[in-house]
Amino acid sequence: MVSSHWAKGQARWAAVVSMSLVIGVVTGLHSLVAVATGGLLFALAVLVHEAGHVVAYRALAPLDAPAIFVVRGMRCHLVRMRLVPVSDGAVALAGPLAPAAMAIFFVPLLFADRVAPWLPLVCFAWLALALSHALCAALPFGDGTTIRESWSLARAERSTRQRSSTT
Ligand SMILES: [Zn+2]
Repeated sequence: MVSSHWAKGQARWAAVVSMSLVIGVVTGLHSLVAVATGGLLFALAVLVHEAGHVVAYRALAPLDAPAIFVVRGMRCHLVRMRLVPVSDGAVALAGPLAPAAMAIFFVPLLFADRVAPWLPLVCFAWLALALSHALCAALPFGDGTTIRESWSLARAERSTRQRSSTT
């Protein structure tokens, strides 16, 4: 079961950003609206990233495999069981790729400039966030480390299997 104290950790921050958005819209302060929207998109990208891990974990881990979210201020991550290397790598990769998969829902905004001229900017901002999350997979820590470790473990297991099948 995946339990979460995401809401508790993020509620105050979300309240500040939402209030800024409302104040910006009411007072017509476009810069405040832009900053608040950026903050909301940033938080949404983190949420989508973690949801990617959770969905992949639920699909690949045993049904009773435990997992929990750890939230420290703006940072959060999923603490979970280790799986077989290929599944472990897939769960680690699902997080960084999830915001890129969500980008499909933002693409229509590129053509919504007649509704509001700033809407395409929301799409560009999301694409930039999705790219930054995808780059997490290449970093030498966090998901990047898990992906590389799983990859080399899976290769080692495969070569061991091949060696034992030829002897
Ligand atoms: Zn992650």
